[in-house]
Amino acid sequence: MSLEKLVAALDECGRRGITAGLWLRDDDAVEPTPALDTLLDLCGSFSAPVTLAVIPEMTTDRLARHLDASNIAQIAVHGWSHTNYAGEKEKKQELGAHRDLSIVLDELQSGLEKLHDLHGARLVPMLVPPWNRIDASIVEGLTGLGYGALSVFGPEKNTLPPCLNTHVDVIDWHGSRGGRDDDILFAETAARILKTTENGGATGILTHHLVHDDNVWCFLRRLFEVTAEHPAARWRSSADLVNEISP
Ligand SMILES: [Zn+2]
Repeated sequence: MSLEKLVAALDECGRRGITAGLWLRDDDAVEPTPALDTLLDLCGSFSAPVTLAVIPEMTTDRLARHLDASNIAQIAVHGWSHTNYAGEKEKKQELGAHRDLSIVLDELQSGLEKLHDLHGARLVPMLVPPWNRIDASIVEGLTGLGYGALSVFGPEKNTLPPCLNTHVDVIDWHGSRGGRDDDILFAETAARILKTTENGGATGILTHHLVHDDNVWCFLRRLFEVTAEHPAARWRSSADLVNEISP
């Protein structure tokens, strides 16, 4: 059972005197919904911080006021409008090389400013590119706009601003579009944790509350249960992790 792989990975951290840092990134929030409340309640009951990647163009102070009641949610910038500008045969991308760089950077500046105005200290100056894709020319402009981190999916690359990535995606996007198999998710989480014992870094779990089925909620609950009980696991806020990787 893969749950045992996860426990074994955490035991290994314990033996080495390492604390495995985990963080949760949840994408596509715009406004309060019952699914968002399910996520916030679940995280809250385990005191696990969650970073909501919010789509700036569409969001309003309804979400901001709703989150005032939560002390576990932080906010990151999820592109500007989550619009796909790629051609039909390309992978979807808002932040590709399809438009003038100055237009894209203006949007990303507006996104950072709007979410700062709405959320204040809850905002982490981190860009989460829609579909986890961004052109290198745009990355180069981020520091000048005030972004302190970039978050995509997969192994971290040596970028400026630095990457705080996610590594385990709970959704089967190319198949059922529901939750992926628990066994695989626990095994991937365990493998990433073991990798961090060699290379450092945290383990990022990627969720999308608007499309979660029962499998996903069940996986998250079990993940929290196992990690909450294990002395070598610790859920971290993205703000703390970004501080640690800042140059
Ligand atoms: Zn998204």
